[in-house]
Amino acid sequence: MVEHHLPDEVLLEYAAGAADPGHALIVACHLTLCPTCRQTVASYEALGAALTGVSTAISTPTANEDTLVARIMAGVDPTLPSETETVELPSTDPPASPHDAVFPWPLQQIIGPFKRLAWRRRLPGLRTFDVAISGARTVIRMIEAGPGMKVVGHGHTGLELDLVLAGGLEDLTRGGEFERGDIQRADADVTHTLEVLPGEPCLLLTVNEGPFVPDGLYSRLVYRYLGWS
Ligand SMILES: [Zn+2]
Repeated sequence: MVEHHLPDEVLLEYAAGAADPGHALIVACHLTLCPTCRQTVASYEALGAALTGVSTAISTPTANEDTLVARIMAGVDPTLPSETETVELPSTDPPASPHDAVFPWPLQQIIGPFKRLAWRRRLPGLRTFDVAISGARTVIRMIEAGPGMKVVGHGHTGLELDLVLAGGLEDLTRGGEFERGDIQRADADVTHTLEVLPGEPCLLLTVNEGPFVPDGLYSRLVYRYLGWS
């Protein structure tokens, strides 16, 4: 069961159609896994419809996804370089059944299925894939890190949102464990270290409003190498 949710302000922006494409993507993915946030977004949409006098039915989660994906896909620029890959426009054909069991459908429509992702190996046990969506003011990245790996100490220059898609993550500084569907979030007031839980690699969709602020020399070296600071 999902225990860690998205901030209300991000859900509100999403419901209003005003979210950054990176935030819209992570919201859409979280909504596929979280009935609580789905309900919150539905209530915001109903409120918006009431306030504007527009009589519309409350969107179903599926309708939300489709609208969102259409919005994001409009921003996917196949010529925009990521570190190693050019993101291709996803097919608008109906998904093959069954869906990818790892990537939520909104994500799969943009970067394809998990099994075919062209990862870039960065360190032993660590691979990443940068998601390029034009118009995004956020850094959107897939990260897979092996059991026991640490996301060494770092602060933030803006909001950080991580959606766990496989495995688990622990915040060693603030406490709390995050598993599939959970959102780990931090902002400019937070400096923390995260660690992948034992057992299996942790797969994350991460969306950052700005680069990391390394905490200490080792952290500075690591993040400079990765290009994340
Ligand atoms: Zn939620």
